[in-house]
Amino acid sequence: MTNRVYNFSPGPAALPLPVLERVREEFLDYQGLGASIIEISHRTPQFEGVLAETVELLGELLEIPANYRVCFAHGGGQMQFSMVPLNLIALKPARKALFVHTGIFSGRTIDEASKWGTAEVVASGEETGFDRIPAIDPAALDQAASYLHIVTNNTVMGTRWAEFPDTGDLPLVGDATSEILSRRIDVSKFGLIFAGAQKNLGPSGLAVVIVREDLLGQALPETPVLLDYTRLVRDRSLTNTVNVFSIYVTNLVLHWLKDFGGLAKMEEQNERKAALVYQALDRSGFYRPLAHPESRSTMNLVFDLPSEELNQRFVEEADAEGLYKLKGHRERGGIRASLYNALPPEGAAALVAFMEEFERRNG
Ligand SMILES: *Cc1c(COP(=O)(O)O)cnc(C)c1O
Repeated sequence: MTNRVYNFSPGPAALPLPVLERVREEFLDYQGLGASIIEISHRTPQFEGVLAETVELLGELLEIPANYRVCFAHGGGQMQFSMVPLNLIALKPARKALFVHTGIFSGRTIDEASKWGTAEVVASGEETGFDRIPAIDPAALDQAASYLHIVTNNTVMGTRWAEFPDTGDLPLVGDATSEILSRRIDVSKFGLIFAGAQKNLGPSGLAVVIVREDLLGQALPETPVLLDYTRLVRDRSLTNTVNVFSIYVTNLVLHWLKDFGGLAKMEEQNERKAALVYQALDRSGFYRPLAHPESRSTMNLVFDLPSEELNQRFVEEADAEGLYKLKGHRERGGIRASLYNALPPEGAAALVAFMEEFERRNG
């Protein structure tokens, strides 16, 4: 395979090469149908089979308990910033949602939720420049609130929750868009987990939602049908024409992950990839990692060089060497290396070799 870069894009992001090859192979003629998977009805047995299997594979890989349901929603990750309050904020009469503010995406979800109730920030990382996950005391959380929302991995700042809080009866909602399937996770700690597809799952525009059954049926009356989890769950995500292509590719990615050895093995590989780069950052003095060691993400590694000019030169020269998309988020600047599941360990090693060589020439 020629001309494939090491792709550090934050999202849409790299997909496993065998998955892309399989898509190419069967794109014109899906399993002898004489038509593409994207040319047939979402209600054909062929596609319904793919859909059901995708739900099954997610259940198996994430060890989703039996009292949870999985559905697919339109609109990517951020549509969930509206869907979660529409469906859950009325769980209690106070119509209040709690948030831990850990970066740009938690900020947006706070703004969105306040359209339908009270959005209260219980802890914020703002004072330390979002370099860590702030501590919270679960016992002090307002039990009159409907849920607590956290972003499990902060894509822009490169921090993640090392451990999830035990919130007892207060449902915990997790935005796992940029880390789903990158590590084992105890689903039973959450009332709801969602993830936009375009980082570790498949093409953009789709979201996976894992929701505990007892939280269904409480949506606000004005909730649009397509944004109502209860409807999506009841209709097995086929309330209208679902994102067929994204689900199909996600299905192949899940097979790839299962064949690789599942989440425990992927988690171990992700720890190794990230450690390689963090070690290079820590021993240098030239590179400045943003995240506090206890909150470091294995998916998005954010750092700065001594000047903006060096940041720019780093990104340009890396790109010329086939290390693609290392530029930081437009609202943060600096460098960000996204090491999602599909980035092979060789990609992390190539980045470290480039960093060392760049420092020698510019340090
Ligand atoms: C990428 C990302 C999103 C945004 O997803 P869209 O599909 O662009 O709406 C939301 N939350 C987190 C944590 C993300 O990393």
